[in-house]
Amino acid sequence: MSSFIVKAKEKKARAGVLKTAHGEIHTPVFMPVGTQGTVKALSPDDLKQAGAQIILGNTYHLYLRPGSKLIKKMGGLHKFMGWEAPILTDSGGFQAFSLGAMIEHGVRKIGRPVDQKSRKLQKQTKQDSDIQIFRSSDSLVTKMSEEGVTFVSHLDGSKHLLTPEKSMEVQLDLGSDICLVLDELLSPMHDPLYVQQSLERTHRWELRSADYFKKNVKKSSNPGALLFGIVQGVYDQKIREEEAKWAAQQDFDGVSIGGSCGTSEYWPTQRSLGEVGGKEAVDWAAPKAIFETMDWIVPNLPEAWAKHALGIGEVRDFFECVERGIDMFDCVAPTRRARNGSLYISPKGGGSLNNESLRASSSEYFSTPQNKFTLAIAQARFVDDPAPIDPNCSCYTCQNFTRAYLRHLFVANELLYYRLATIHNVYFMVNLVKSIRESILNQEFSKLKKSWLGR
Ligand SMILES: [Zn+2]
Repeated sequence: MSSFIVKAKEKKARAGVLKTAHGEIHTPVFMPVGTQGTVKALSPDDLKQAGAQIILGNTYHLYLRPGSKLIKKMGGLHKFMGWEAPILTDSGGFQAFSLGAMIEHGVRKIGRPVDQKSRKLQKQTKQDSDIQIFRSSDSLVTKMSEEGVTFVSHLDGSKHLLTPEKSMEVQLDLGSDICLVLDELLSPMHDPLYVQQSLERTHRWELRSADYFKKNVKKSSNPGALLFGIVQGVYDQKIREEEAKWAAQQDFDGVSIGGSCGTSEYWPTQRSLGEVGGKEAVDWAAPKAIFETMDWIVPNLPEAWAKHALGIGEVRDFFECVERGIDMFDCVAPTRRARNGSLYISPKGGGSLNNESLRASSSEYFSTPQNKFTLAIAQARFVDDPAPIDPNCSCYTCQNFTRAYLRHLFVANELLYYRLATIHNVYFMVNLVKSIRESILNQEFSKLKKSWLGR
């Protein structure tokens, strides 16, 4: 029986229920990210108060510290961190690559090439199965092979081999409710030949992951765990459609959509941003590209699968992706923004729908810390502002504290600031996606979208 049931639809937008070993998840859903066994600055009770139904745990970080065997010995991740609701774990691949390869390419998952001058990209043309792809100026950061990815720990420089089997072993040791297969994260700077080789290898890794999972899940600490496949790829319609069709044929419980949604210097669809550092920069993760990518993928996936957009997103992304059939989201934005003094506001709470130069999508996150759905609490105009962060928000912070107080705590670098700001930002995003779910149940999604995005 399928673990996912669609309860209501408005065009492609769906409201559903995903059944896991630690309870039901009502979708669309936003999953706060608990990188190191904690959603930064929040207790499990804070998360419950915010309405969080499920959190994401990072396999890479927990494997390196404190170690998945230790967590298993302590009764699994749920017990270790005092969180009894569902947990989704990633495969660890994203960090293994993003803390290596993407940096080597001078890009991040969300953002633009940051240092074109020092970027030392080696075009990969070898057919060998055992290849070294990325070199920094003097040291090898990430080594790819058919077996897996060898990476260097960002903590102590130790070397590790992450294979599909190892990733599944770690996720089963953690007791995850939704495990993700290991894939290779593609950077938008990879050339077409490398993309093709990588996607074929990712297929083999996904099958090896599924094989290990099926042989071992029943004897693991969470026999009811689900397995999600991954759709990889780049900003290319044919590739994305083919990858979705391949995933659709596999025996997965759901799917996460990953990889670059942007353009690359090798792809004809690139959009020029003009000169940066003497080299033409590319708008490789324009919102349009993310949404187009979803348009290519989702119709080729089974209706009965829950669909997760990895690492997305921001306010605009939720509406645009739900409209295209996405059910689950995760992003570090609420917690990271909170720490940086960037607090979410609704259109009624002071957000400006008319300021199109300040867009509010994942792709602007790193380059544009402020957008129409955030305010910068450090600004002098808040020094004596008696209003809550967002007058329409029902979170603990907004019910009890003023912008003036939050600004004071932020400027004074007080620890309480981090907790109060994170409570608000996580509550805001969790409840925005919850309101999207309710709007679909009431056939009012288009209306809600218009009230936020103005169209
Ligand atoms: Zn609030």
